[in-house]
Amino acid sequence: MAEALIAFGGNVGDVRETLDRAVAQFCDGNAVRLIARSSDYQTPPWGVTDQPPFVNCAIVAATILSPQALLARAQAIEVAFGRARANEQRWGPRTLDIDIIAYDDLAITTPDLTLPHPRLFERAFVLVPLAEIVPDRMIAGVRVSGALAKVDANGIERLPPRR
Ligand code: ATP
Ligand code: CA
Ligand code: CA
Repeated sequence: MAEALIAFGGNVGDVRETLDRAVAQFCDGNAVRLIARSSDYQTPPWGVTDQPPFVNCAIVAATILSPQALLARAQAIEVAFGRARANEQRWGPRTLDIDIIAYDDLAITTPDLTLPHPRLFERAFVLVPLAEIVPDRMIAGVRVSGALAKVDANGIERLPPRR
């Protein structure tokens, strides 16, 4: 079993409903088992700032899948929720984005998959949810809570549970 950290987000449609359903599909309880899920957070758009706010969350999962299989699973679920990568702007509006942040302590760079996620340490919208569930997890030698302390988390709001 490997432990994977996964980030979910979107800013088109009923994103909180999408996140709930996408997390449930991703973590089917067999090949991928949900260990912990953060709250949902409303976050300012990053990279392309002229677009609606995002909702983001993060999970810890235990899995028997390879990192590549996990990425394929993530991309299939993105498509199922209306993601159409061919038509979109980089870092622009999307129904659902699922990024693999870390897979055990694996460090790889391949054309399709880089682990840990290469931009994770620049992103409060990833680090805030992660720090809620795994503050002491080390990623590339850096503690999640310490990484969060180095970024600007202004404008990120924890959302109350939906029900
Ligand atoms: P960013 O990667 O900066 O968060 P993005 O999520 O908007 O941007 P996408 O269009 O969703 O980018 O993905 C582009 C490609 O990134 C994917 O096709 C995938 O092969 C690749 N990729 C590389 N490493 C990862 C990773 N750790 N998790 C998810 N996708 C990855
Ligand atoms: Ca992303
Ligand atoms: Ca992505």
